[in-house]
Amino acid sequence: MKVVDIATSIAINTLPMLALVLLAMLAERRKPVERPALAAARLNLPYLLVYGSSGPLTSMALGSLTVAAVNMAGGGWISLRADGWRLLPSFLAYLLVLDLLEYLFHRAQHRFAWLWAMHSLHHSDPAMNASTVVRHFWLEPALKALTIYLLAGLLFATPGVILGMYAVLGFYHIVPHMNLRLGFGRGWWLLNSPQFHRIHHSALPQHYNCNFASLFPAFDLLFRTHHVPQPGEFPPTGLDQAPTTLWQAFSWPFRYRQPADEASAPAPSSNPAVRNTSK
Ligand SMILES: [Zn+2]
Ligand SMILES: [Zn+2]
Repeated sequence: MKVVDIATSIAINTLPMLALVLLAMLAERRKPVERPALAAARLNLPYLLVYGSSGPLTSMALGSLTVAAVNMAGGGWISLRADGWRLLPSFLAYLLVLDLLEYLFHRAQHRFAWLWAMHSLHHSDPAMNASTVVRHFWLEPALKALTIYLLAGLLFATPGVILGMYAVLGFYHIVPHMNLRLGFGRGWWLLNSPQFHRIHHSALPQHYNCNFASLFPAFDLLFRTHHVPQPGEFPPTGLDQAPTTLWQAFSWPFRYRQPADEASAPAPSSNPAVRNTSK
């Protein structure tokens, strides 16, 4: 891949996200849960360039390797069709399977200490808002490429149009991170909402280890990890530690120290003391 192609990929990966996050931050002002934490956004928005670069650089570094692995395994076992009426059911099947894989990957991030060391960067935002969506450790795209996306490549031969639709739908992840008093009431299980995901980011022990869903909370319901949002339930978010500079965010897993009282657990949110999530 040429340098100019990499620069174009990075721009495509960052500029639309930046524009949509800024729009969402404006929308948050209509009904915020808490006062906008501009200090957090001041870190998240420049960090967008780091995280937005990691996807194209991962593709460059691992793309041919993962394609070769899929081909060697005779992958693409299920051929998804995108012609005519078949496009919608094929897309829904791809979406559901990928969302299940995202759910399982997220469970692992809270279960295993070395994954939590990276994922805790996302949870460290002291005041969750739309810009939190890009606050993921820069190595995560590579880890997903080697695990869940590799598995998806083995399972499905996927037409480009379906991959494109899935990528566009990815912008929806901004919404559940918004600092917005918005839940979906009785339809909480249909689609991730700012209220449902705020509970996942909650700083309160009674909310640990629940609401892992990426798009569809029905997976939390299925695996009994759901906490049904109650009316007016919008808890504070964050950890006891947070980066304040880009370098600290970049090197976060080497800096984050799990609190002493949780040191025996694989990850802070795996503390067995508070695990009744099925209410
Ligand atoms: Zn999480
Ligand atoms: Zn989140």
